[in-house]
Amino acid sequence: MMIYLDYAATTPLHAKALQDMQDCWRDRFGNPSSIHFEGQMAEAALQEGRAGLAGMIHAGESEIVFNSGGSESDNLAVRGVAWARCQSNKKHLLISPVEHPAVMQTARQLVKLHGFELEFLPVDGYGQVNPDDVAKALRPDTALVSVIYASNEIGTINPIAEIGAVCRGAGVPFHSDAVQAAAHLKLDVTVEQVDLLSIGAHKFYGPRGVGALYVRKGTPILPMQTGGSQEHGLRAGTENVAGIVGMVEALRLTLDGLEERNLRLVQLRDRLIAGVLGSCRARLTGHPQQRLPNHASFVFEGVDGNFLVALLDQAGFACSSGSACKVGNPQPSEVLLALGLTARWALGSLRVTLGRETNEAQIDAFLSVLPALVERAVVER
Ligand SMILES: *Cc1c(COP(=O)(O)O)cnc(C)c1O
Repeated sequence: MMIYLDYAATTPLHAKALQDMQDCWRDRFGNPSSIHFEGQMAEAALQEGRAGLAGMIHAGESEIVFNSGGSESDNLAVRGVAWARCQSNKKHLLISPVEHPAVMQTARQLVKLHGFELEFLPVDGYGQVNPDDVAKALRPDTALVSVIYASNEIGTINPIAEIGAVCRGAGVPFHSDAVQAAAHLKLDVTVEQVDLLSIGAHKFYGPRGVGALYVRKGTPILPMQTGGSQEHGLRAGTENVAGIVGMVEALRLTLDGLEERNLRLVQLRDRLIAGVLGSCRARLTGHPQQRLPNHASFVFEGVDGNFLVALLDQAGFACSSGSACKVGNPQPSEVLLALGLTARWALGSLRVTLGRETNEAQIDAFLSVLPALVERAVVER
């Protein structure tokens, strides 16, 4: 039996979300854009989902853009706003150096193809952005600020509301990637003062391949996928109605009993962190307290992180080295280098993320095998 400790990569679909999706696929197969009764049935499911999600994050229904997931949300936020803002000659992008590749690579493409200027905000040794640094870096030609809400790699939570206040004061659109945060933090776009917020269903026990972007009313943005007028003209294509129904139900279930689950996760997480730091020559990456309740991440000096993950897999534990999006990539993680770690440390990264099924016995089993496997994964002394 495999012990799954990779909930930041993806989470198993909640049984109730699956049930709702099956009902939807069977009973509401119509195209929501069709005028007839079958179309109306699907449209009703879609509207119910939109109202449900909008309510949970304190947004308006017209501010929700359903799409294919976190990556697409990040792409639309960054590229869509950049394209709109460059029409008024604003071509300065200000992002954190600890963004997910969906933000990072989109920004880099804008530099390469459209002549944008990319500036990275400073971060401290925990990968946290200081709102004062955002205030200092803003310029009259800043097109967009993007700061990840909670890091998928190191778990650190950023002061999004404070950064939001700075950006709002300057009238600069602010995006935050909340794909990891949504599983553990109560999102409220009015408190966070974001103009754009990305979420993806499969990180909170919803289906893969569906997500949403919150776009505050009045935010300058252009569609990147053009065609029909679905999603307020910001994302053409017939909607994934069943996926949306599953995502919204999964988020509802996530918010239900969130605090108690987080308390339980923090206890397990801290037991894991103390166990690893006490038995191996390891460093915790990311903030010790202001981090996701389910997230533990480490670096081991001179260790091959990918090899360690393979050894753990053989021993029956599913974990990850840095980000799952970089499988087979021997380059040290950019995020870990941004924390000031050397490549020698950064190449030995391990991410262990917990979830609904994780219990103390699993953590203890993991801790009992880890030290010997770390020793085997040493590549240089
Ligand atoms: C997983 C993840 C994404 C990408 O989401 P997909 O739905 O897999 O495309 C983006 N940002 C963060 C922080 C993530 O953890």
